[in-house]
Amino acid sequence: MYQVSRGIYRELSAEIVTGREGHEAVLKASEQAIERLATDRHYFAAPARSLFREIRVHFPIQSQARVWAVVRDYVAAADGAIAQLTTNGRDVFGNRLQCRATTRRGSSCRRLPSNANGYCPSHQHLAVTEEIELAPAA
Ligand SMILES: [Zn+2]
Repeated sequence: MYQVSRGIYRELSAEIVTGREGHEAVLKASEQAIERLATDRHYFAAPARSLFREIRVHFPIQSQARVWAVVRDYVAAADGAIAQLTTNGRDVFGNRLQCRATTRRGSSCRRLPSNANGYCPSHQHLAVTEEIELAPAA
């Protein structure tokens, strides 16, 4: 996955105008965004836009459109690759995927999530209530 964040950085590094600190900030923000995409996808809304907002201050006005295009394309590619990798029951770091629910005894549910919402078949109802809770905020 770090190939992706380094790819973003490499594509854009020549245009960074905020010096050494800017270079570090752009690389770090890219790494964090991709790592979060890989491990916390369900709670990471609009990852491309959020990364762009974070790094855009390090680029001049005339680079903004290109920065956005690079971020958007790399994040989309990473997102697709992650979705594909996680279909075999493991995340991109090889950790076994687990249902996001907590059981009545307070431990996390150890069943395999069955689809994109990250819940196992017996906890699907939680995905529905979650959508209702999130709706007013969105
Ligand atoms: Zn479960």
